[in-house]
Amino acid sequence: MAHSALSQVPVAFSVNNDVSLRKSVFKSTRVTFLEKSRTSSLSLDFRVASSQSRDRSVVCMSVQQASKPKVAVSPLSLEDAKEPPMHLFKNKEPYTGTIVSVERLVGQNAPGETCHIVIDHGGKVPYWEGQSYGIIPPGENPKKPGNPHNVRLYSIASTRYGDSFDGKTATLCVRRAVYYDPETGKEDPSKNGVCSNFLCDSKPGDKVQITGPSGKIMLLPEDNPNATHIMIATGTGVAPYRGYLRRMFMENVPTFKFGGLAWLFLGVANTDSLLYDDEFSKYLEDYPDNFRFDRALSREQKNRNGGKMYVQDKIEEYSDEVFKLLDNGAHIYFCGLKGMMPGIQETLKKVAEQRGESWEEKLSQLKKNKQWHVEVY
Ligand code: FAD
Repeated sequence: MAHSALSQVPVAFSVNNDVSLRKSVFKSTRVTFLEKSRTSSLSLDFRVASSQSRDRSVVCMSVQQASKPKVAVSPLSLEDAKEPPMHLFKNKEPYTGTIVSVERLVGQNAPGETCHIVIDHGGKVPYWEGQSYGIIPPGENPKKPGNPHNVRLYSIASTRYGDSFDGKTATLCVRRAVYYDPETGKEDPSKNGVCSNFLCDSKPGDKVQITGPSGKIMLLPEDNPNATHIMIATGTGVAPYRGYLRRMFMENVPTFKFGGLAWLFLGVANTDSLLYDDEFSKYLEDYPDNFRFDRALSREQKNRNGGKMYVQDKIEEYSDEVFKLLDNGAHIYFCGLKGMMPGIQETLKKVAEQRGESWEEKLSQLKKNKQWHVEVY
């Protein structure tokens, strides 16, 4: 069993009640590592900020870890399994997990709210990177009175070891679904998303019904530790990649020594909407030969035609390199809102044609070679 990082480490708490500091608190959180005998032991520095968000209290608990030296993890038996865990808990008999922390991830100028939610599953709902959990929000399904709500899926944003490295937690990255009346432009709370609001409003100690894990499309292929992985995300689509990147660059996993290239393209509205930017920037510093990170900020940057900078415009900037990497066997992943795919496919098709290639043929080859991974919602 993995060591319990939390039980072994000195933890420093500081409490901050200033809402305006939420983003900067996240940025300023530090972690130090102490060398003890031959393994590095971890010292986490937690900042706890209780703050008012949308008139509700959200307790923020940032846990940022440095990427060098990597965090020693004791391999879970999951490392030896040939297949990922699947559907351990079904809709009729979900697992009751406990909320550990809920933290707003975005700054004041982000349109909308996205939260980092750590859930304690007690090691009972193990998963692999790239899988999803189902969450059943409390209450009654208005369309089926007397029945629970339908399950909602969320990509898991942590590695199998979780943010506390002990294999007992899973992290979700959830965007609060808010409904604005198209005529008045005003928010109509009665039509806000049920599950995302439940999760973003939850507090440490609250219970949460979990199903799963599920999903095989976004599993990180580990047969070749020197492979290239091109990861395309819009917004919360970054969740599975956070898991991959922590496995590659933050954890010292004896059975997976990553020596390839991970290239992340992340599209969000503006700087304040960036997710996990500190974590990713640290990998850039520590692993410049193995990690590339390109951000597309649609409301702040212009593409080469003077229009908004979407993630496909960033891909187009590097299309020669991207196509060469794909020709050499790179995996490419897409995760985020459904609407991202048409624009991206159009761009890839245009680039292929400029190169005198048929996109249809290339795409079918990529799919056949299992290089093409799409999970959009
Ligand atoms: P719902 O209650 O299901 O409502 C859906 C939408 O309808 C909302 O926008 C709501 O405002 C609107 N609505 C409600 N009532 C009305 C009405 N009367 N008229 C008009 N509109 C109305 N999401 C994430 O944030 N992060 C993830 O990592 C993530 N991963 C996913 C992975 C997969 C594989 C899939 C399939 C989905 C994923 N999702 C993720 C999306 C997630 O499952 C939910 O769909 C999302 O959170 C919205 O659920 P909800 O219960 O909040 O909204």
